Amino acid sequence: MLDLVIIGAGPAGLSAADAAADAGLDYLVLEKGTIANTIRQYPVGRALFSTPNELEMREGTLKPLREKPTREELLSHYIHFVLERDLNINTAERVVDVSGDIEQGFYITTNCAEYHAARVLFAIGAMDIPRRLNVPGEELEKVHHLFVEPYAYVRKDALVVGGGNSAAEAALFLSEEGARTTLAIWREDWENRDPKAGAMKHWVRTPLEAEVTAGRLNVVLSKQIDEITEDAVRLTTDTGESLTLANDVVFVLVGSEADLTMLKSLGVRTEAGKLTEVPVYDPETYETNVRGVYVAGHFTHARHIKAAIDVPRQIVPLIAKDLALTSSR
Ligand SMILES: Cc1cc2nc3c(=O)[nH]c(=O)nc-3n(C[C@H](O)[C@H](O)[C@H](O)COP(=O)(O)OP(=O)(O)OC[C@H]3O[C@@H](n4cnc5c(N)ncnc54)[C@H](O)[C@@H]3O)c2cc1C
Repeated sequence: MLDLVIIGAGPAGLSAADAAADAGLDYLVLEKGTIANTIRQYPVGRALFSTPNELEMREGTLKPLREKPTREELLSHYIHFVLERDLNINTAERVVDVSGDIEQGFYITTNCAEYHAARVLFAIGAMDIPRRLNVPGEELEKVHHLFVEPYAYVRKDALVVGGGNSAAEAALFLSEEGARTTLAIWREDWENRDPKAGAMKHWVRTPLEAEVTAGRLNVVLSKQIDEITEDAVRLTTDTGESLTLANDVVFVLVGSEADLTMLKSLGVRTEAGKLTEVPVYDPETYETNVRGVYVAGHFTHARHIKAAIDVPRQIVPLIAKDLALTSSR
């Protein structure tokens, strides 16, 4: 039986693996995609909002060319950390079920194998379920719920739907790279200037507004998207008019949520968080109401990368201590 299975190899899972190795635990990380899968899905070339000290696995080891690292620099940092530390990570292995309890141990089923572990740490992030508009045509192949790169859309009619940084950045990158871009955004999001209330960051808004002023980017204050067809999108504007836009590609970037199904089936309670539903856990140990089941990272109340790295460093030694106590009984 393993001491600890960690689900997810994002910053939280990697930090937990590092701490588990330090504590001498027999651990394994199971990752459905690649190392730092969420960061690999950021737009190509995107600079992080955070500074190296908030992102790096060891002080002074992330050395970007500019003040803030790009997606590529951060990815490479995490990958090299895994290689140098020789962390136990199985990639392309999705956890599909977790059962059991602290007495008998937990049974972790993946698409490849089954594992038995004394403790389980969920570090699954909050990207699994992209929010949808639920409008006719959203299932068309040209509609995406993730934006990674603009280069396929030069001189195409692109629509981005959403009011946060991801939507604003996608609209900016598309417009800068020659797509005829429209951003459909609610008035309250467009007029929101309060970063604490989720307003887009000023270093996104400033170039975005420059694109609008230059006449390259169209911003539509919209109430709702009504229908997406092969070559158009019909929407209702803020003032109630119906507008039909020529369209080749749509990016629906209205947020995402964690998939809490496995936690719930284990009996973990959840509560309403600031943005989404979050598991209930002890703020010191991050253990849920189900003994032996822990959570860390983006789908808890501690949403940023710095916390995703710091929390496992605090809780994995506690898990190791708890395991040592249990085995000495
Ligand atoms: C475009 C964008 C820009 C961002 N910029 C910043 C920024 O500048 N600064 C910042 O602090 N934060 C930023 N964030 C948020 C940041 O990405 C998260 O805080 C961070 O990824 C959290 O790390 P995590 O390990 O908790 O989750 P994640 O990095 O999401 O890792 C979770 C991992 O779990 C895996 N997983 C999920 N379910 C399963 C399963 N069933 N089986 C196996 N594996 C599974 C996923 O594939 C994923 O690799 C940004 C987010 C986005 C989308």
